[in-house]
Amino acid sequence: MLSPHKIFKTSTTKKTAILQRLLPVIHEIAELTDSPFSMAIESFDILEKSANDENDFFSCLLEDTVFSSLYLTFYETLFVVIGENTKLSIPMMEKFSENAEEREQLINIQTFNHIRYIENNGACPGCISCENHHDVKDLVSYYNKRNFDFFIKLYIGMKTIQTTFEKLLYNILPKHPNMLEGITSQDILTIRQIIFNEAENNLQ
Ligand SMILES: [Zn+2]
Repeated sequence: MLSPHKIFKTSTTKKTAILQRLLPVIHEIAELTDSPFSMAIESFDILEKSANDENDFFSCLLEDTVFSSLYLTFYETLFVVIGENTKLSIPMMEKFSENAEEREQLINIQTFNHIRYIENNGACPGCISCENHHDVKDLVSYYNKRNFDFFIKLYIGMKTIQTTFEKLLYNILPKHPNMLEGITSQDILTIRQIIFNEAENNLQ
């Protein structure tokens, strides 16, 4: 789920064995010519240029940020499951790829519900995403203040993480099917936080 508080949390994260193995790979991805950060900047530019006005831009920014954050939860689940069954890495990667359309439809619905909740100042008459609204609760006050800086940072951070995970899954995993062995949700959270912090630094 979308959890900015999770991302901004400064936890005392242990560098587990899996992290020692994965972080160099994450850094390699970050140094590609088409790095996830540069791709995030590129999509940000497109978003900004295609928006009709400032209101439209703000709405699109929020929508894409929530979409990306929700997408990440699917990667998270997949990575943990692959980590428990590395023999199934490739078939699961392929299955994930096949299900892209279905997954995006589901995320679109959840995004719509969350945005409506945020726009209604944290109120919802009832929808299928209600039990997860608490994950976006923190966004309500930033939305009400129209805090562009906050959402730009979040957008770039989330997009950078999303593309990094995408490259990890489709470009790296097929060559190293055991790469995610033993990965936990906490490891993924740490990786997310590291990528987010680096994207934030790059922005400055
Ligand atoms: Zn709801």
